[in-house]
Amino acid sequence: MAKKKYVYYFGDAKAEGTGEMKSLLGGKGANLAEMVNIKLPVPPGFTISTEVCTYYYEHGRKYPRGLEKEVVAAIKKVEKSMKMKFGDPKNPLLVSVRSGARASMPGMMDTVLNLGLNDATVKGLIEKTDNPRFVYDSYRRFIQMYGDVVMGLKPESHDDTDPFEEILERKKWTHNLKNDNELTTEHLKELVQEFKAEIKNRTGKDFPEDPMEQLWGSIGAVFNSWMNERAIAYRRMYNIPQSWGTAVNIQAMVFGNMGEDSGTGVAFTRDPATGENKFYGEFLMNAQGEDVVAGTRTPLPIEELEAINPKVYKELFQIRNKLDRHYREMQDVEFTIQEGKLYMLQTRAGKRTGFAAIQIAVDMVNEGLITKEEALMRIEPEQLNQFLRPIFDMDQKREAVEGDRLLAKGLNAGPGAACGRIVFNASDAVEVAKGGDPVILTRVETSPEDIKGMEASQGILTARGGMTSHAALVARQMGKICVAGCGALEINYRERKMYVNGKTLEQGDWISIDGSTGEVIEGKLDTRPSEVLQVLLDGTMKPEDSDVYQKYESVMKWADQYRRLKIRTNADQPDQALNAIKFGAEGIGLCRTEHMFFGGERIVGVREMILSDTLEGRRNAIMKLLPMQREDFAGIFRAMDGFPVTIRTLDPPLHEFIPHEEKDIVAMAEYMKVPVEQVKRRIASLHEFNPMLGHRGCRLGIVYPEITEMQARAILEAACEVKKEGVDVLPEIMIPLVGHKNELKHQREVVDRVAKEVMKEYDTSLDFLIGTMIELPRAALTADQIAEEAEFFSYGTNDLTQTTFGLSRDDAGNFLQHYYDHSILESDPFATVDIDGVGELMRIGTEKGRSLKPKLKIGICGEHGGDPNSVELCHRLDFDYVSCSPFRVPIARVAAARGALREKLAEKAAKAEKRKQAAKKAAVARKKASKPKKAKKGTSGRKK
Ligand code: PEP
Ligand code: MG
Repeated sequence: MAKKKYVYYFGDAKAEGTGEMKSLLGGKGANLAEMVNIKLPVPPGFTISTEVCTYYYEHGRKYPRGLEKEVVAAIKKVEKSMKMKFGDPKNPLLVSVRSGARASMPGMMDTVLNLGLNDATVKGLIEKTDNPRFVYDSYRRFIQMYGDVVMGLKPESHDDTDPFEEILERKKWTHNLKNDNELTTEHLKELVQEFKAEIKNRTGKDFPEDPMEQLWGSIGAVFNSWMNERAIAYRRMYNIPQSWGTAVNIQAMVFGNMGEDSGTGVAFTRDPATGENKFYGEFLMNAQGEDVVAGTRTPLPIEELEAINPKVYKELFQIRNKLDRHYREMQDVEFTIQEGKLYMLQTRAGKRTGFAAIQIAVDMVNEGLITKEEALMRIEPEQLNQFLRPIFDMDQKREAVEGDRLLAKGLNAGPGAACGRIVFNASDAVEVAKGGDPVILTRVETSPEDIKGMEASQGILTARGGMTSHAALVARQMGKICVAGCGALEINYRERKMYVNGKTLEQGDWISIDGSTGEVIEGKLDTRPSEVLQVLLDGTMKPEDSDVYQKYESVMKWADQYRRLKIRTNADQPDQALNAIKFGAEGIGLCRTEHMFFGGERIVGVREMILSDTLEGRRNAIMKLLPMQREDFAGIFRAMDGFPVTIRTLDPPLHEFIPHEEKDIVAMAEYMKVPVEQVKRRIASLHEFNPMLGHRGCRLGIVYPEITEMQARAILEAACEVKKEGVDVLPEIMIPLVGHKNELKHQREVVDRVAKEVMKEYDTSLDFLIGTMIELPRAALTADQIAEEAEFFSYGTNDLTQTTFGLSRDDAGNFLQHYYDHSILESDPFATVDIDGVGELMRIGTEKGRSLKPKLKIGICGEHGGDPNSVELCHRLDFDYVSCSPFRVPIARVAAARGALREKLAEKAAKAEKRKQAAKKAAVARKKASKPKKAKKGTSGRKK
């Protein structure tokens, strides 16, 4: 068997590893090897593989046999390449020892720099560089790092300072110095001795002078750091398996602090904030890496290097182009210039804003670097929010947060940035907004009564409620910015004041909310409107004038090319529906009719219907609503012009519509010409302890069929009228909260009866469907029975999540955060479908429904319909469509395309695997066939 290889050398334009070997060499090691292979100037070094880490932990922190020999041989190669010797007092080689796991874990594990320095090599290095200050500074930094990382001299408790920093600060204080760079060679020399004494004092051990001992100490420390608390916590957070282990990279040191012809910097091959295709970075001359990030000196923009050293700048610029093209991905690089020579120390995929991610992906397709498929797989659908929604001025926001103006954090329920005056009730919101100032409606929670105030507001902020609370879902539907469930707010409506984070804010004060992050910030922040909206919705910009819009449009076109799912929208007003069409919606998946009940004077009719004791009274009242509802539906049908429209019959518990305030109750009694007491009695009788599981959904239409009758008539009459105008109409009438097939059967009969009457009256025929929401576990489990009565299913995952978990969608926020903090749940099940539970019910329901009707139309209209992971689940379950709020339509389009592409990639991988297995089998068969058959002993041919 071939001997196992543990060490991989890189240097002199040739590496034993490649960029593909991330699992064995870690990200850093693989990229160092790759940079060497593409002939970039990289200081030589070697990588100890992740397999050693695995071995180390499986064998009681011992190394595999043969490792030591390989490390010694690799050091020799580095020595040869650098023409230096490890531990040589005259010409010493110094190395760095760094961790490097498969996935980047920034700052979680340990690093040792300047390794190889001791009292003897220090002298050689001074002779060589003629720069004693630099050498002693490097030496004291090395002892400090080694003492911390390898010998464990860390602060003993949270209240302790770092022991080395303490000595350093004392030194500066004694000599009345402010910055580290003011320390003289003598001071640094003293520090070296004082650091060593501190090590001896605390550990009883001497600082090791032998470079080999230093090296093995550091290798061990890096492997040990794989299991430090920080690394374990980080892995848990980002789902990185412990079994991956870390590699260790040992590399010749180069110095950016060897004088004015040396320097160091970090750069991105493209602008990480805007995505612009331009070299972006900063550097410092005569400095080490940590000086660039520490903020003690202000780094210079990369362009200024051209004036300082044009040759190096040119080389660096060429390397930037080479890396960008080679990796076909924006890179984040570190470099050092040592005495006029450039060295590349690291490259990796650069972190970027969502805005930049899309810009870069589209540019790279246009530049022929990547395919459309690759671009779509690189764009996280949520990143589109940064193209669609207003955003804060980043500098102002940073300043505000640093200036202690961050008040609290809630749920990021409606993305985007909004700034306005605080108002605590809906009617004040309407009034203040009329005056011209933007407002933020701030409520404990919202209810349907607040609709007009929500409409008038720039943003909505609530203290209670989750991702599917009224505030959250209505805000998303309206395209409003919303932070919900911000538990730190203590709102006093009467005082029109809010207490938060030790501060008091009053109505009229300015506040800013970030619905993408959930942050609530005191005071005013400037916002920038989205160019895409200016083109698509406001018409204030032309497509050809907006580069951002053109990029958005490209992504949308590509997404539509690959997606199989149709995308519909949840909308209950023609203007919302029209916006959604502009975003690419192909129908309405949910029109919540109850939202219409608060428009105009409708609420009076609704209340009269609810408060009537008799069938006749109810029927009279509800029939007053018929013309208004008919107009609402006609408006929607006209707006959707031929696209299917799913309209749901009344769903919420009736008490949501009844008046609560005395003056409204009295007004209702007067209107109905009944005693106030009678109205109050009726209100009391409607009270329910658990209304979300009470008299709502189809249960309303079953007990009060006149409601379903009126709504079905309004829908179908509107459809007949609009059809006569020449508009194509495709109504789909949807019955909510069905748990038993007989419920649907009952409601179906009501609708069918009304349909016959209406068609006769209008003397026309009409295509329409009757279907149901699947939002109760029983509905999913008996979907084959329910399908007998349904022409379509639409998963109401808000209620399905609520009823599957037994969680209240409005109150669960109170303790769900505790669940995430303690890893009981990973994410909000009201935002992303819980695949194992709710997702499984969706699978069962779909399978059962289609077992009876193979072509049954199936969609989703819960808030999850706009969540990228949930959209991909719907693709996998072979749904026909997802329906989401208008502003999430573009996100759903991209998510649907990614679902289809992921499927394609998986099929490709499965085929490749099949081919590989077949080839393997064939090779074994060939080998068998080519082997001469051994003659059995004693059965030679001769005997025959
Ligand atoms: C649902 O339950 O998922 C749904 C869409 O209905 P609503 O949110 O109106 O209850
Ligand atoms: Mg529901």
